[in-house]
Amino acid sequence: MSKAKGSEQQGILIILSAPSGCGKTTIVDRLLKRHPDWSRSISATTRPPRTGEKKDEDYFFVDSAAFKGMEERGELLESAKVFDYFYGTPKQFITDSLKKGKTLVLAIDVQGMRKIKKVLEGRVPLCTIFVLPPSIKVLRDRLEGRKTDSLEEIERRITAAQEEIKDARLYDFTVMNKNLEQTVLEIEGFVSQKKKERRTENHAIRSS
Ligand code: 5GP
Repeated sequence: MSKAKGSEQQGILIILSAPSGCGKTTIVDRLLKRHPDWSRSISATTRPPRTGEKKDEDYFFVDSAAFKGMEERGELLESAKVFDYFYGTPKQFITDSLKKGKTLVLAIDVQGMRKIKKVLEGRVPLCTIFVLPPSIKVLRDRLEGRKTDSLEEIERRITAAQEEIKDARLYDFTVMNKNLEQTVLEIEGFVSQKKKERRTENHAIRSS
C-alpha cells in the first residue's frame, strides 16, 4: 500500500464537548444511528450508573482501585476528576479504530479535550466541536427535568457550565443545540468539512 493511500484511510476523531444537560448523549446517539460505520469511544468512570445507563455501553463503570490500575498501566489517553468522580479515555480502542480508518466520536469535557489535543494533535485528524445550550435558563430546565440530580448538584453543574462555555472558543466549531435535528446536521457538516480539508492536504502533499 502506498503511503498516500494509507494516510487517506486514516480515521477522524470527533471530540464533542457540552456542559452537562446540553443534550450531548442524545446528539451522539443520533449521530451513531445515522452513521452505523461510526463508533463511540466509551470512557471509564468511577461514577455509579444513573437509571437507564448500561454498563459497558454508556461507560465502563469501575471502582477506584480498578481505575487506578488502568491509569498505572498507561491504558488511559487522559483522565480527570469531574465533579466527584474520575473519568478516563481508554487508549487502545481509539488508536486501533483510527488506524482502521474509522470515524470515532468522543464525548468529553473541556479539560479532557485539551489533554487529548496535546497528545494527538498533528498525529491524527481531529474535529473538535462544542455544543452550547440555547440559554442558561433552558439548561436549568433540562437539568431539573432529568430528575437525576439534587438542587445543589444542579447549581454546581450550572456554575460549571458557565465556566466551560468560556472555553468554547478553543474548539474548531460551536453549535447551539436549539433543535436536535438541526444540530446533528450542522455537526455532520463540520465533520465533512474537516474530512475534505484532510483530503486536500493529502492531495497537496502528494502533488508537492
Ligand atoms: P456525566 O457524569 O454527566 O456522564 O459526565 C460528567 C462529565 O464528565 C461530562 O462533562 C463528560 O463529558 C465528562 N467525561 C465523560 N467521559 C470523560 C472522559 O473520559 N474524560 C474526561 N476528562 N471527561 C469525561
